[in-house]
Amino acid sequence: MRMSRYLVTIGLEIHCQVKTASKMFCSCAVEYGAEPNTRVCPVCLGLPGALPALNREAIRLSILAGLMFGCRIPEVTTWDRKNYFYPDMPKNYQLSQLHAPVCQGGEVGLDRLHFPNDFQKQAPEGKVVRLDHIHLEEDVGKSTHYENNSLIDFNRAGTPLMEIVTEPDMESAEEAVALLNALRQNLIYGGVSDADMEKGQLRCDVNISLRPPGQKELGAKIELKNLNSISAVRRAIHHEIERQSAELDAGIPQVQSTRRWDDDAGETTLLRTKEDAHDYRYLPDPDLPAVETAELLAAARRDVPELPHHKRQRFTDAYGITPYDAGVLAADRALADWFEQAASAAPAGAKKTANWVINELLARLNADSLHAEQCPVSPQRFAALVDLVSSGGVSQNQGKEILDAMFAGDAASPEAIAAARGFEQVSDSSSIEPFVDQVLAEFPDKVEEWKQGNAKVGNWLTGQVMRHSKGKANPRVVSEMLRSRAGLE
Ligand code: ZN
Ligand code: MN
Repeated sequence: MRMSRYLVTIGLEIHCQVKTASKMFCSCAVEYGAEPNTRVCPVCLGLPGALPALNREAIRLSILAGLMFGCRIPEVTTWDRKNYFYPDMPKNYQLSQLHAPVCQGGEVGLDRLHFPNDFQKQAPEGKVVRLDHIHLEEDVGKSTHYENNSLIDFNRAGTPLMEIVTEPDMESAEEAVALLNALRQNLIYGGVSDADMEKGQLRCDVNISLRPPGQKELGAKIELKNLNSISAVRRAIHHEIERQSAELDAGIPQVQSTRRWDDDAGETTLLRTKEDAHDYRYLPDPDLPAVETAELLAAARRDVPELPHHKRQRFTDAYGITPYDAGVLAADRALADWFEQAASAAPAGAKKTANWVINELLARLNADSLHAEQCPVSPQRFAALVDLVSSGGVSQNQGKEILDAMFAGDAASPEAIAAARGFEQVSDSSSIEPFVDQVLAEFPDKVEEWKQGNAKVGNWLTGQVMRHSKGKANPRVVSEMLRSRAGLE
């Protein structure tokens, strides 16, 4: 990919479905995949004269999100009509918030792990994206277009949406991806949203502008509408940077406009030149009361979870694991809880437990597409296995085999599984000694190197003894014997 010689500025508007049982302004159920037009009433169908009523839980959850992102929560939040015509919104206005949105300001910290895998090495450290505000609004119906007709399903109409609007603080597609990942992680942590992009619970509009270095004011804002996957966001931004750069190079000025991303073709096409907020003729909604937030704010405060980056810091400090490992464990609230249960039950200690969770447990969970909550092995049995391995009862590889058996449904204790499979580590020194002798005789120069202080060689020599013993020797006993024989004790 050619580097653009222009400065890139990106802001996002993210629509995120709030996790409520019922809709924003009526009591119809929010239900994905139900028979079309069966979760509807006069309010969400937009029939004339129907009166909306507020969903308290949607407001409480939005305030909770605001607290997690350090937003200001105004004392009073109000409702506005955003006027536009669209067939999937028959009343011709969307109930939304312009003048006093439920959350104002705030910020989201980006962590290395939020960036795409292939970009984490170059990821900026400590990047923070500011939020302009978060407002609540209703989703519209869903139209499906066929050759000669279109069908509309209003089940989705009226679903509570939080619209999270960032400041234009991002400078690359990868930062935009990181912001989305960070938002998703926090929203799931707080139970605010499931943020499942495949189910359309999180959709993203990208505002992107390019300007030559040295120019102060931002270039024309081009909006990419309704991106519904992380990969689409990344690809669409890369494409748009290329496209706008090429036009600017050719002397074609950019104009404020809205474009559509075609995921199959991998390109954007012009939808319309962009309207401004005043084109929507926002006006205060006469049916919905202003909401005093104090009570909901107090309720939301009680539910603010330990945030992922705080958890990560605590794991690093309390368990002596690397920030990276702590980040992997803290990335998912259920996994973090699972790990802490196992760590507190493991005599072998948290650090060994963390290694086993990251290297062995996660691989098996991912292979079976399981979430930590669905793990077939309890944290306590897992802790017993880690202890069995680290006390030398079985070898690393045998431990992995035992974990496989536990995953496959073997309900016996790790010790019982080890005994049933004849896994016994040789720990008595008289059986190991011949192998140690053999290795010391075979590699005198390595032994010398080790004595000179190259600690890595010690591990290598242990490995050689392990090899001779066909993996059966207890590596801790081997390493102790080697040290004493080499005179390193
Ligand atoms: Zn309804
Ligand atoms: Mn919106």
